[in-house]
Amino acid sequence: ELDTQSWQVLDRAHYLHPSTDHASLRQTGARVAAHAEGIYVWDTDGERLIDGLSGLGNVNIGYGRKELVDAAAAQMLELSYCQSFFKTTHRAAISLAEKLTSMLPGHLNHVFFQSSGSEANETGTRLARRYWDLLGKPEKRIFIARELAYHGSSHMAASLSGIWPMHKAGGDLPLSNVTHIKTAYQYRNGFGMDADAFGVLAASWLEDKILEIGADNIAAFVAEPAQSAGGAICPPMTYWPEIQRICKKYDILLIVDEVVMGFGRTGEWFGCYKYGIEPDIMQVGKAITSGYLPLSGTIISDRVADVLIDQGGAWDHGYTYSGHPACCAVALENIRILDEEGIVENAGKELAPYFQAKLDAFADHPLIGDIRYVGLMGGLEIVKDKASREAYAYEAHIGDFCSAEALKRGLALRANGDTMSLMPPLITTKAQMDEIFDITREALDATAKHYGVTA
Ligand code: PMP
Repeated sequence: ELDTQSWQVLDRAHYLHPSTDHASLRQTGARVAAHAEGIYVWDTDGERLIDGLSGLGNVNIGYGRKELVDAAAAQMLELSYCQSFFKTTHRAAISLAEKLTSMLPGHLNHVFFQSSGSEANETGTRLARRYWDLLGKPEKRIFIARELAYHGSSHMAASLSGIWPMHKAGGDLPLSNVTHIKTAYQYRNGFGMDADAFGVLAASWLEDKILEIGADNIAAFVAEPAQSAGGAICPPMTYWPEIQRICKKYDILLIVDEVVMGFGRTGEWFGCYKYGIEPDIMQVGKAITSGYLPLSGTIISDRVADVLIDQGGAWDHGYTYSGHPACCAVALENIRILDEEGIVENAGKELAPYFQAKLDAFADHPLIGDIRYVGLMGGLEIVKDKASREAYAYEAHIGDFCSAEALKRGLALRANGDTMSLMPPLITTKAQMDEIFDITREALDATAKHYGVTA
């Protein structure tokens, strides 16, 4: 018999894997999602939540679009499975690869499908190693990534992630061929600087690291266009042109993780367009299907692909579910809807300015020290002292407190440390934005009161 109340379901939650706070789901006020439509999710008690995170940066198109379900069902009836690497492939994978490469800059012409962002990052980094091996430079094996980044949970992807508690959580992390530089986080790493000058300085940390290790030992630099991890860390516009120049100068590959930024988050189809980046390898995932089915891809430039193809093209790397037909069919339908309904364009031109003005309005809040955004990704950083930028002690858990207050009031957002992160679906209306920010303000006010902060 089905349990109908959240508390009944949560009493059985210890059967779930003990990640994050599952052990105490009931105490943390977690909800049991039952069904969803548009930007709303209803729990088993019938209470409505606004999904201020688009799932986890993926449900850009919103929940419950029947066209995506129909596309999956039709594909499964026609061809439910096809492995895509031992001399068979199928139409949906080919059409999707064709579609993606037509949407991306001209030199990105080859797609290798996986199921998750972690797998895409594994593939991109293995591919980079393979490229240098084939060119007779096997010593180019080190990857440079950034502090506070998140790239996934497998060994390499977790190593690339610049989150030290994650490394300590087991598994000899980070791998010995991964190192990190500080990220383009002006509020913490560039106090008092002009934004353009800071962008150039932050990029120079890559050059410093290259000179320290030696370019002959470095395979690639790996980064998100704007960092969703760490709390919506958006670089100044001077950052990427410099990064690009440095990668070219020292002949190291540029690998860009578009797992969250891809398919509209920045208000452009890809973060690469927003920041003018021309990667050698790009990872996409999440919003490629708006989260309806698991799919990711590694997109490979001609520069890299030509070397692989010259050497015969074969490469022992692939997954059982690489390019699953139903996932590819859903991705094609998702991209069609995003495009034909002008969702990405509307997000960039209409919604993003509204969303960003709403974020800017928190400048007067006694808890908010920094406000960051690009497109429909935003972060409000809570600090103890606005003048000195002093943060609350980790033990104060003020970010977690604030996100719990928002959840109580029907809004799912995320505490990235003490930054309240918002990534609403791209179909959110302005009236729904108002609702999101009303709740955010109530949650921050309740937090200020609890921590004894007055204006
Ligand atoms: N890259 C980025 C930027 C991500 O945010 C994530 C997931 N949050 C991943 C990669 C890993 O994706 P997945 O969880 O699908 O493995």
